[in-house]
Amino acid sequence: MTTSVHQFLCLSDNYGVLIHDSRTGATAAIDAPEAAPILAALEQKGWTLTDLLFTHHHADHIQGAPALKARYPNLRIVGPASEAARIPDMDTLVREGDIVRVGALQAEVIETPGHTTGHIAYFFPEDEIVFCGDTLFSLGCGRAFEAPYAVLWSSLLKLARLPGSTQVYCGHEYTLANARFALTIERDNPILIDRAEHVAKLRAENRPTVPTTIAAELAANPFLRAEEPPVQAAVGMAGADPEAVFAEIRGRKDRFQG
Ligand code: ZN
Ligand code: FE
Repeated sequence: MTTSVHQFLCLSDNYGVLIHDSRTGATAAIDAPEAAPILAALEQKGWTLTDLLFTHHHADHIQGAPALKARYPNLRIVGPASEAARIPDMDTLVREGDIVRVGALQAEVIETPGHTTGHIAYFFPEDEIVFCGDTLFSLGCGRAFEAPYAVLWSSLLKLARLPGSTQVYCGHEYTLANARFALTIERDNPILIDRAEHVAKLRAENRPTVPTTIAAELAANPFLRAEEPPVQAAVGMAGADPEAVFAEIRGRKDRFQG
């Protein structure tokens, strides 16, 4: 195993995550919610930060960057070209299909607009790992802040087409609340019921529910299941366009007081 991933909490519910290539010693952080826990994690692992990969412009994903750059002056900051005007001091601007190298590791850039207009994900095909920021969450998805629901839906479909065994690292620990909402849509889905119980147990022990996998999300995440007859029936839209079903579910979640 030459690739290691280390995940830890930042702020109240953001995840910081490092991916390390032992062949070259390169280490990337995905997003920078808060510098102190990222620096502490690097210290604990004995890793040197070489790259910082941004998913989108929200403050809770970029605000730790100046302190990381101060500590590691050679740090390369990579982020979405289409959010260049909203993210300061990026060194490398990337778009759909670009390859980002972290030492000997390679990530493909997948544009996943919706939560923000320029949101991107980083997929490491060799290790089957995707860092998807605030687009897909465990049992949920991000809010469509800057685009119509349909835009977020097509971004989720791109992630859904990754190999089922892909490990999914998302930006927040929201799974418990997401499970509560998911059960309002599919209360009879046995896989979801199991997941919800498991997630409750993990959170009661203060353990992370992330990473998840694409296959696990396809089986239980209502936002990826807008084409499934039980989900369509649950929202009274049997046979409807999945995009419209997704919009209905996302709208319900926006109003959900869970
Ligand atoms: Zn965000
Ligand atoms: Fe966020």
